[in-house]
Amino acid sequence: MRNPKHKYLVIPGPVEVRPEILDAQAEWMIGHRSTAFADLYARLQGKLKQAFLTDSRVIVMGSSGTGLWEGASRNCIRDGKKALHLVGGAFSERWADVSEMNGKEVDRVTVEWGQAHTPEMVAEALQKASYDAVCVVHNETSTGVTNPIKDIAAVVRQNNDDTLVLVDSVSGFLGAELRVDEWGIDFALTSSQKAFGLPPGIAFAACSDRVLERAAQVKNRGYYFDFLEIEKSGLKNNTPSTPPIALMYAADMQLDAILSEGLDNRWARHTQLRDMTHTWTHSRGLGLFAQEGYRSPTVTAVANTKNFSVDDMAKFMGGKGYSMDKGYGKIKGKTFRIAHMADMQPSILEDILSGLDEFLETV
Ligand SMILES: *Cc1c(COP(=O)(O)O)cnc(C)c1O
Repeated sequence: MRNPKHKYLVIPGPVEVRPEILDAQAEWMIGHRSTAFADLYARLQGKLKQAFLTDSRVIVMGSSGTGLWEGASRNCIRDGKKALHLVGGAFSERWADVSEMNGKEVDRVTVEWGQAHTPEMVAEALQKASYDAVCVVHNETSTGVTNPIKDIAAVVRQNNDDTLVLVDSVSGFLGAELRVDEWGIDFALTSSQKAFGLPPGIAFAACSDRVLERAAQVKNRGYYFDFLEIEKSGLKNNTPSTPPIALMYAADMQLDAILSEGLDNRWARHTQLRDMTHTWTHSRGLGLFAQEGYRSPTVTAVANTKNFSVDDMAKFMGGKGYSMDKGYGKIKGKTFRIAHMADMQPSILEDILSGLDEFLETV
């Protein structure tokens, strides 16, 4: 039986997962070398390619998104070459660290938390040095900023053919517009527990042929995230090691719902949720932390201009059955985030915002 004390998750991951999707995980196990598994794998590939808008393969990993950061850095950056990391929040900082910890040389284009990266900044950096990859976070979950990925990718592709465009769309994918092939993205990674609306533990990445060609030139790709090994198995609708089968059942069902909603409708629903959140924030005299014009459709970082205790807010909302975020890292308390992603509907958001109204009357 489910926990009757469960609070609906308004935190930016893991997000609330629909009961049918949780139940899909309880299907009988199958062996991963069986025909039934190959069918599941092939079925998922078809749906994932539609979701990423790519004709390339989609890597499916038993890991969180962090694992695919490491995989991307190791497979795409050659010895003696460098990566350019666009840094402007907790997650983009951490990905740059991951590249360095894997022995890669990294240059950073750093903006203040809450600011976006522009294509001009990237063009300028590409004038000064050559890079094996540009690594950019689509939706910086810590600050609520969405970067202009389409324009950034265009600048990189115009510059030269050797630089791969690697995108972390962990909290953007399936909430914010992302067109992998059309925008010239080589690698777009995500994990399950954000706008995808799945439990944590499985990660996905659209992976171009260019990435595999690069990987073939990298000596030490590591073992678990060796994209060439993953490709070899993938061609046989299989995986090198045991995959998270229960989560793949859940993904299979969730992708049906996502594709029947339609990507355009899904992106529009997220924009509507964002706009509702902004309207509420403005009308209550609170601020928005992210730069105007780059505010995320999946998560809003509310600037706590009233200086109330976010702990009190979270406690109050807990009493209403909602689990709230209290802000991330160095902006914790000065901001708090309202996640409006995955399967959240406007009616639920309305209830959350009216709960917050009741809290504001107490401060
Ligand atoms: C959550 C998040 C990550 C980390 O993903 P995990 O699945 O927790 O490893 C990376 N990047 C962004 C933008 C995120 O929001």
